[in-house]
Amino acid sequence: MRFLIGFSFFCFTLIFPFNVFSQEIDEKFTVVLDAGHGGKDPGNTGNGYYEKNISLAISLLVGLELEKYKDIKVIYTRKKDVFVDLYKRAEIANKAKADLFISIHCDAFENSNAYGAGTFVLGLHANQRNFEIAKKENSVIFEEDNYEQKYDGFDPNSPESVISLVLMQEDYLDQSIIIADLIQKAFVTDLKRKNRTVKQAGFIVLKYTFMPSVLVETGFLTNKKEGAYLKSINGQKEISSSIVKGILDYKNKFNNVQNIGQSNSVKQRSDSDKLIDNYFLKIQIASSKKRIPLKSYNFKGLKDLTRSKFGDLYKYYYKNTSDYAKAKEYLFNAKKTGFSDAMIVAFKNGNRITLKDYLSSVKN
Ligand SMILES: [Zn+2]
Repeated sequence: MRFLIGFSFFCFTLIFPFNVFSQEIDEKFTVVLDAGHGGKDPGNTGNGYYEKNISLAISLLVGLELEKYKDIKVIYTRKKDVFVDLYKRAEIANKAKADLFISIHCDAFENSNAYGAGTFVLGLHANQRNFEIAKKENSVIFEEDNYEQKYDGFDPNSPESVISLVLMQEDYLDQSIIIADLIQKAFVTDLKRKNRTVKQAGFIVLKYTFMPSVLVETGFLTNKKEGAYLKSINGQKEISSSIVKGILDYKNKFNNVQNIGQSNSVKQRSDSDKLIDNYFLKIQIASSKKRIPLKSYNFKGLKDLTRSKFGDLYKYYYKNTSDYAKAKEYLFNAKKTGFSDAMIVAFKNGNRITLKDYLSSVKN
């Protein structure tokens, strides 16, 4: 309920001309790529390799691949060997209203036998090892000016301090775990990398982002074989293609209203409805300038929520069906729940169409 007070204020029933609508719905899926470390902060230097260089090379390769998709926008926290404060990295992502934040790193361990790729989401570390990884990645704030003020007195060396980190990312945790899982899956199935599974730890760079966010430890520079692999062009290409695959899989899963671009095989899925081509109906329940987490408690208990963006306004939808009779039921339910301005809206391949066009197309 916490968002509803300011939020209902923005609800409106104004209907735009539909040709404008379908143009504006073309919101790009925005991915922020965060190459760990940089400039005066080399990251770990296992086997003489520089983490900052390898994380940058992999990030650029991931970006290059993603930029081929016309419906994806890629933003980098750095494209060169420069130092960027951790909070600034998050700020870049928040400003861009990104859909995903992917921080790319390489691991190090005193035992040079350790190897494998791991993907982390923000959370309480389950063991000392995860705490140590987060501590190492967080310690970069000592290089920043006024870090005490900037990070509210956060102390990377204190396990208790980490607990305060996790609350803000809570709303995005489910989705962060999904993207982390998909990246891990790509590492393990495509590259046969040792699976260090998805883990939680208190990474400060993930704290301040307001979107699903993960930190990928692509492998250990301290391991002789893995270090050489991560340094090699081939290794970097393979790693980046797995990260790309994870991102695309995630996008397909959550690409709510927009279409995927080159493929029309993507079907909107909901209930057990059989969908007719890519025609579908949703119940628009609200609009807001705020990006509100799609949690039922933010929407009076309604479930099956999706969102799209028109200009600087977010539209919120309930349900997804190709059955007009069902859509009317859902509309009734939404109104009964308190969304009195709710309305049925129709889409074809992710573009808004009139209900009339929908009904005549579906009949044929
Ligand atoms: Zn790192």
